Amino acid sequence: MIKKFIDKLLGRSDATDKPTLGKRHVIAASVHGIDPQLVDERAVQVVKTLQERGYAAYIVGGAVRDLLMGLSPKDFDVATDATPEEVKSLFRRAFIIGRRFRIVHVVFGRGREHEVIEVSTFRAYLDSADAQQVKGNERSSKSELAGMKHAVDASGRVLRDNVWGPQDEDAARRDFTINAMYYDPLTGDVIDYHGGMKDAQKKLLRMIGDPAVRYREDPVRIIRAVRFAAKLNNLGFKIEPRTAKPLKASVGLLADVPQSRLFDEMLKLLQTGHALASIEQLKTLGMASGIYPLLDVVVERVESDFVHAALQDTDRRVGEGKPVAPSFLLACVLWSDVREGWNERRIKQPPFPALQDAIDEVFDSRIGDVSGRGKLGADMRDIWLMQPRFEKRVGSGPWTLVDHVRFRAAFDFMRLRADVGEVDELLADWWQEFSLANDAAREDLIQQVKSEKPNNAQSVPGKARRAPRRRKPASKASGSEMQTPGDKTQE
Ligand code: ATP
Ligand code: MG
Repeated sequence: MIKKFIDKLLGRSDATDKPTLGKRHVIAASVHGIDPQLVDERAVQVVKTLQERGYAAYIVGGAVRDLLMGLSPKDFDVATDATPEEVKSLFRRAFIIGRRFRIVHVVFGRGREHEVIEVSTFRAYLDSADAQQVKGNERSSKSELAGMKHAVDASGRVLRDNVWGPQDEDAARRDFTINAMYYDPLTGDVIDYHGGMKDAQKKLLRMIGDPAVRYREDPVRIIRAVRFAAKLNNLGFKIEPRTAKPLKASVGLLADVPQSRLFDEMLKLLQTGHALASIEQLKTLGMASGIYPLLDVVVERVESDFVHAALQDTDRRVGEGKPVAPSFLLACVLWSDVREGWNERRIKQPPFPALQDAIDEVFDSRIGDVSGRGKLGADMRDIWLMQPRFEKRVGSGPWTLVDHVRFRAAFDFMRLRADVGEVDELLADWWQEFSLANDAAREDLIQQVKSEKPNNAQSVPGKARRAPRRRKPASKASGSEMQTPGDKTQE
C-alpha cells in the first residue's frame, strides 16, 4: 500500500495497478444483429427469474461470442450479481459446485434431454499481490486453501477465485475480448468493456490485459487460446500477435495444473468439433508437444490413417449434433499400442489373456491418473476386448456379442479398422447386417458363414484381405452412426 501511495505521489505508473477496466459500451440489438431464435429459452428463463428479483443477469461468454457470429452456442452461461446461495434459492433444481471457482448449475429436464445453465457470480478483479499466497500448488495445498476466497501460488497462478465484485471487474478477468461480452436477452443489449465487438469484426482473438501475466494466472488459458483459434479459424479469425507471442514459452506453466483439469481441456480440444483444426493450430504455434502427455500422442499419430479417421469422424459427428464418447476416441488413439503389445504376447500366451495384459500395460504407461476415471477406462477396455470376438461368427458368439452394452461402440471401432484396411470390410458389413436383423435373418447370416470357406468364419485379426483404402471423406469413413454416447468424462 505504502509503495503504491509513494508511487502515486511520484506519478509513477504501477504495473500491479488494476488493469484498465475498459469503458462500458452498450450495443443495441439493431446494431449487433443477434438472432433471438438462437438463444436458449431456458437461459432466458434464468435471466428473467434473476432480473425479476432485482438482480443484474446476462448471458455471457462463449454463448455471446457464438451468437454474434451467427453460430448456435453449445451451452449457455449466465452471469449475475446474485451470490451462489441467492441463485440457488431461486431455482428448484440448482446446485452449487466447484471450489476453485464456485458456480451454480441450474438444471432443466431429465435424462439425455437435460440441460444445465451455468450461473456464475460477477468476480471482483483482485491483484495477485493482494491475494493470499499459498506455498505449493493446487494439489499440495488443499487444506491450506480451505476457506480462502482468493489465493494464488508463488508464480501468481490463481488457486481460489471466489470474491464477488462489479460487472466491469468481472469483464476484466475474463480471458479473450470476444468472450467478455454480456447479452441481455430481454432488452437485446450487448454490454462490451474491452472492444470485443470490434475484435469480432476484425476477426481477432485478443487476450484482455497482459497475455503473459494472464497465462501465468491460469495456464489453461494457453489451451483455450488454441481451441478458440481452431474453432474460429474457418471464420477467418487469427490470434492477435501480442496474444500469440508468449504462448509457446508459457507451456511449461501447465506442469502444475492438476491432471484432471488438463485432461478435460484436452477433451474439449478433441471433442468439440475441431479436433483436426486444433492439432493444426498446435503445430503452427510450435506447441505440438508438452501440453499433456496423451495429447502429445494424439498429435504424433494424427497422420496415421486410423487416428486421422477417428478424429475426422468425431469432428463430423459433433458438427451434426451427434454425441461422441471420449472412451471411443482414446481407444482409437491408443489402439496401435494395444495391438503391438498383443501381437508380442500372443507368441507366448493364448490370445485373450495376451490382449488383457497388453491393455493393462497401455493403461499403466499411457493413461496414468485418468485410469481412475472408472467408466472411461472400463469402456475403453470393453471396446478393445470385443475386437477379437468379432472374428468369431459361430455358435452363440454373435448373439451374446450383439447384446453387449458396448456393442455399438465396439462395432464402430471395428468399422473404422475396416475402413483403414485392418480387418475385412465384409466382416464389418456382416456385423452391420447382423445387428440390424431379426432372429430368423440372424440365423441365416450365421448359416451363411458356415457355408463359406472355413477360414471365413475365423479370419486372422490384423490381416485384411484387401489393400488399405486411402482416407475418405469422414461422412463415409465410418459408414456408421453408432458411436456410443453417454460417457462424458466429468465423472
Ligand atoms: P465454449 O464454446 O467452449 O463453451 P466458452 O467461452 O463459453 O467456450 P467456457 O469454458 O464455457 O468457455 O467459459 C465461459 C466463459 O467464462 C468464457 O467465455 C470466459 O469469459 C470465461 N472463462 C472461462 N474460463 C476462463 C479462464 N480460464 N480464464 C478467464 N476467463 C475464463
Ligand atoms: Mg461456454
